[in-house]
Amino acid sequence: MKIHYLLQQHVGAPAIAVVSCGDRVSRGQLLAEPNVLGANIHASVSGTVENITGESIVVAGEERQSNSFIPFDEPSDYFEAIREAGIVGAGGAGFPTAVKIKSLKNPKIIIANGTECEPMLQHNIKFMQTRPDVLIRGLKYLQEMTGAPIALIVLKEKNKAVARDLLNLCSQEKRIRIKLLPDRYPAGDERVIVRELVGLELAPGELPTESGLLIQNVETIKRIVEAIELRKPFIDKDITVAGRVKDTPKGKPYMDVPLGTPIGHFIEASGGFEEPHGEIIIGGPFTGKTATFSSPITKTTGGIMVGMPFPGGRKKMGVLACECGAQEERLQDIAREMGAEEIITAKCKRMEEVNGRFRCNKPGICPGQAETVMEFKKKGVDALLTGSCDE
Ligand code: SF4
Repeated sequence: MKIHYLLQQHVGAPAIAVVSCGDRVSRGQLLAEPNVLGANIHASVSGTVENITGESIVVAGEERQSNSFIPFDEPSDYFEAIREAGIVGAGGAGFPTAVKIKSLKNPKIIIANGTECEPMLQHNIKFMQTRPDVLIRGLKYLQEMTGAPIALIVLKEKNKAVARDLLNLCSQEKRIRIKLLPDRYPAGDERVIVRELVGLELAPGELPTESGLLIQNVETIKRIVEAIELRKPFIDKDITVAGRVKDTPKGKPYMDVPLGTPIGHFIEASGGFEEPHGEIIIGGPFTGKTATFSSPITKTTGGIMVGMPFPGGRKKMGVLACECGAQEERLQDIAREMGAEEIITAKCKRMEEVNGRFRCNKPGICPGQAETVMEFKKKGVDALLTGSCDE
């Protein structure tokens, strides 16, 4: 199978290849290094490098593969292990984890984000259910590295049973606590977590690390443990497949799948498409991006969602964008897919411009959008598309 490693799977610049076409590579071997801000990229399979472009490295995987890997060299400390492993935020953000940890000021609380914000995703909760010991060890490593006195594991209320198991497991851990958040989107947004757990309202654009709070997705913590204990690079990813697939429409988690594998492989493993089907989305239904059958799994891939075909027949569509839900460009793409000849766009009134980007000033505390809807009506809009959480 052809495995595609995108050179940009992280916040920062595309990584720079350190292998050449024709090279034989082994699982775990370094393929590309960061260019200033970024992360190492390693081979998730053994095979031969077939093509290198400015965007990706293609490896023709050998028929027989194993789970073993080449560990990276003994690191000098935990930071070095995380950096060497090429770990980035696995929840979708993709920010290089070692840089994020280093940026923490006056460490107070480490927060393991297990809220799995987008509907239908299940791989984070499966990890917490099956390997809570790994999550707890990861939090202890992060506390040791930063000196943060408290660690919190955050889940949604619907996952109370898993929270109870974690609570039992942590009964002797004085410095680790479990917290539940409402089953509401965008409960997993970092600013919502900070507000709900700590009572601190971060300004749009203000980072939790500036207030002593380090928030890490639970899978990122799993990869940190692998890097520290096994010297394992970030080469496997947990994902969920859901939607218009035959066997698992309500979603199925696949754990530790090799990075770079085409997502179509997992659609087929889930029984193939249920017809009629619409677009494939990588990420979640709210914030995901349109993908193709051959798009590769990356370090930030969470969900592979197959949708229904879009209904057509709309002429003039209104798009109401939300920072935390489906964004303006995504909604405009959908409107075009629905055959809209004219698209009128508005933003939620809580969005404000900060450093050239529109951000929500109170995520999850959403206003009514009636005024905007009335404006759309006056302009002759015959259908409204919105990514706002409450409307
Ligand atoms: S307040 Fe507006 S922009 Fe913010 S999360 Fe709610 S709908 Fe989205």
